[in-house]
Amino acid sequence: MWAAFAWMFTVFSVAQGDALWLEYPHRDGLESVEVRWRDRAVPLARSDGAWVAVLGVDLDRAAGDHPARVTFAFADGSTEVRRETIRVTPKEFPVTRLTVEPRFVELSPENLARANRESARLGQVFAAITPEIHWTDGFEAPIPGGRGSNFGHRRVFNDQPRNPHSGADIAAGEGTPVGATNRGRVADTGDYFFNGNTVILDHGQGVFSVYLHHTRIYVQIVQMVEKGEILGQVGATGRVTGPHLHWGFRIQNARVDPFSLTRMP
Ligand SMILES: [Zn+2]
Repeated sequence: MWAAFAWMFTVFSVAQGDALWLEYPHRDGLESVEVRWRDRAVPLARSDGAWVAVLGVDLDRAAGDHPARVTFAFADGSTEVRRETIRVTPKEFPVTRLTVEPRFVELSPENLARANRESARLGQVFAAITPEIHWTDGFEAPIPGGRGSNFGHRRVFNDQPRNPHSGADIAAGEGTPVGATNRGRVADTGDYFFNGNTVILDHGQGVFSVYLHHTRIYVQIVQMVEKGEILGQVGATGRVTGPHLHWGFRIQNARVDPFSLTRMP
């Protein structure tokens, strides 16, 4: 039986902290496609002759096989289900030790309350899954040629362990223009305690790009921005050791290496 139905299953292999590209060809009468894995349902979007989605695999998602269920709904009311496997492969993340102003490690009661409020707000922003996609073809680094390899590093600030690094830091001088990685809607901007001056773009399907520590921000919430449009200027606001751009992705609330997006089709 297994062999007879093996064609119905696909194993998608993806590393911890990477994005996974899903694509199924369009067929006559197909009206919607949805993938459900873990506790989330993500609608696939129709793009040319295919149905596509980007799934996020959190850097701390357990390695191993995770079931995913893809439902195809047709105009005549029938449905078809594929039971896929998302195989998460382990990745080693190094430890980084950093020294910052003590107020960012030993938080005052006011700063602790502020950080908690901001964390709750960000949680709400990242929880949204809008069904349409705003992006157009590939994702690009926000600073042309920019590189950053410290995604996922386990971090120790002033000798105290803190959350792993949820993005990649791109070295750049203060004032360097920061461009949108792709087309999207501005989901949030603001001055955050840890993140400094922040811009978050919603690319649809629960795919958010995050840009931190700006000295200036040029965009406003709800505005649509095109790929490459300037969002702000590199700065050193928030918990930093110097000017740089922190670039990250939250994909269905998973922390994902932004450079894994630039390697997608
Ligand atoms: Zn960073």
